[in-house]
Formats: sequence, structure tokens, C-alpha cells
Amino acid sequence: MTATIESARQSASGYDLMPLSAEERERLAAKLTPEERRVMIDHGTEPPFCSGLLDHTDDGVYACRLCALPLFRTTAKFESGTGWPSFYAPFDPAHVREIRDISHGMIRIETRCARCDGHLGHIFPDGPPPTGNRYCMNSAALEFVAS
Ligand SMILES: [Zn+2]
Repeated sequence: MTATIESARQSASGYDLMPLSAEERERLAAKLTPEERRVMIDHGTEPPFCSGLLDHTDDGVYACRLCALPLFRTTAKFESGTGWPSFYAPFDPAHVREIRDISHGMIRIETRCARCDGHLGHIFPDGPPPTGNRYCMNSAALEFVAS
């Protein structure tokens, strides 16, 4: 089955996944704080247990801080004990891109926003059912939107 270009640019949940132009990405990145920029643009990791979103349990959606694409729902959030906000599934699988990361002497799966390519965190295979995945996220990459 071959997806048309039009359908590939829109996710099943109805969001536009057209990549941002370099100018648009830079315009949005200019609004980030230095810590948000370090995480999202320079692929950094924030220290554990300092996240404002860690114990956050209000209903809503966690969107990309750079381009506002919905990435995770509160209903898929769980307490992992790691010190980073953790989810067992994304809002829409097409919204979170997975990339093999062999930096720091480890083989990990890096996650990036499918639209703006901003760094989000990593996926580990030790999450709870039903997926068994743990999406370990930097809160600096997420913006909570109450529903
Ligand atoms: Zn984004």
C-alpha cells in the first residue's frame, strides 16, 4: 500500500504533519528558554526530579513546546519512578518519530516531534501494559494543554 503525499502529511488523528521550514523552526525556537532550547534543539536531557510536569495528573494533552503538535495524553501517563514524565503510548504514533541513538555508549531509541524535529526524549522497553513501552520525556519539550 502506498500512501499519497497528502495523506502522509496528515496524521490519522487529523493533524498537519508538514515539516516546518528552517525559517519557521528558527522563528519558533527563538521563543524557547535557554533550557528548552538545550533540550529540544541541542538534544539535551534535563536533570531528573526537577520537572514541573512530573506529578501532573490533570486531564489534557501534552503538546510539543516548539510547534504545538499534540504528543501525549494524561490518560497514558504513569509514575515510572525515574524522575522524568513517562507515558506508555503517544497521542498518535505518527506524531512521535523514532530514531536509533548510539550516543553515550548506549543503544537507545530517541524520540523527536514528527513535525518540527525537536528532541523529546527516549523510549525504553520497560513500560507498563498495554504497550510495554516507556516514553521517557523531558518536560522542557512539552506544553500541557488542559482539556
Ligand atoms: Zn514539534
